[in-house]
Amino acid sequence: MKQNTALVTGASRGIGRAITRELARRGYAVAINYFRSQGEAEALAAEITAGGGQAAVYGADVANSAAVGEMVARAEAALGPISLLVNNAGIAGQALFQDVDDESWNRFLAVNLTGPRNTIRAVLPGMISRKAGCIVNISSIWGLRGASCEVAYACTKAGIIGLTRSLALELAPSHIRVNCVAPGVIDTEMCRPLGAETLADLAEQTPLGRLGRPEDIAQAVAFLASEDASFLTGQVLTADGGFSV
Ligand code: NAP
Repeated sequence: MKQNTALVTGASRGIGRAITRELARRGYAVAINYFRSQGEAEALAAEITAGGGQAAVYGADVANSAAVGEMVARAEAALGPISLLVNNAGIAGQALFQDVDDESWNRFLAVNLTGPRNTIRAVLPGMISRKAGCIVNISSIWGLRGASCEVAYACTKAGIIGLTRSLALELAPSHIRVNCVAPGVIDTEMCRPLGAETLADLAEQTPLGRLGRPEDIAQAVAFLASEDASFLTGQVLTADGGFSV
């Protein structure tokens, strides 16, 4: 059987690492993208290959389209055509709208929105020529609801939903499905700045009574990528323990 290859951006830590582990467990060869956390990315690749899987590590800032193009070319040469792209890399931060300067605003857009645009543009020629492929983007419930003191972040995550729905329509004739997952509050380093007390409050406000785990999002991504979801495209799967219901 032909092996599937997945590229996961921001796979060195948190949700991306859990997604990568789950995809490797399901038999994908995995291209592990990182930006700063090279050691963590290499440790993940070693863990997957020690378990009999296939993995390789690629450092690239997703905001840099040339670096992304090079990463995709190297990953496809090493692991085969990318059949699944998971746009997970992202940055967050809390500040009043008035306090977000041009540099910070532009970096949010560059990483969280232009990053997925860069990776999608790099994998699309192959997917279109094969008339097959799957893209899963990671949005956020804040992209659906809006978020005080996270305006820049919420804008990029709302943009991801627009990107997902629009590309789903444009790429459907090429049999490429595009969906996204909107996680609620997930227990990773990204949430640490909120502090223990706020995180406990958020867990309490969650109908299922806990914060999400990276593995919860990994299962949602793996489902959207699977044949079980073959009639799903342009969808936003909210995985938040009922928080936004
Ligand atoms: P995290 O623990 O902070 O990890 C972020 C990941 O993104 C890291 O692997 C990091 O890589 C990578 N990254 C950051 N900037 C990058 C860049 N310029 N190029 C390539 N990779 C980059 O965050 P997380 O909680 O796992 O979040 C993962 C995704 O889920 C993000 O898109 C986030 O917005 C979304 N999300 C998270 C939550 C949550 O509550 N945690 C909720 C909703 C949505 P390096 O460490 O190698 O630099």
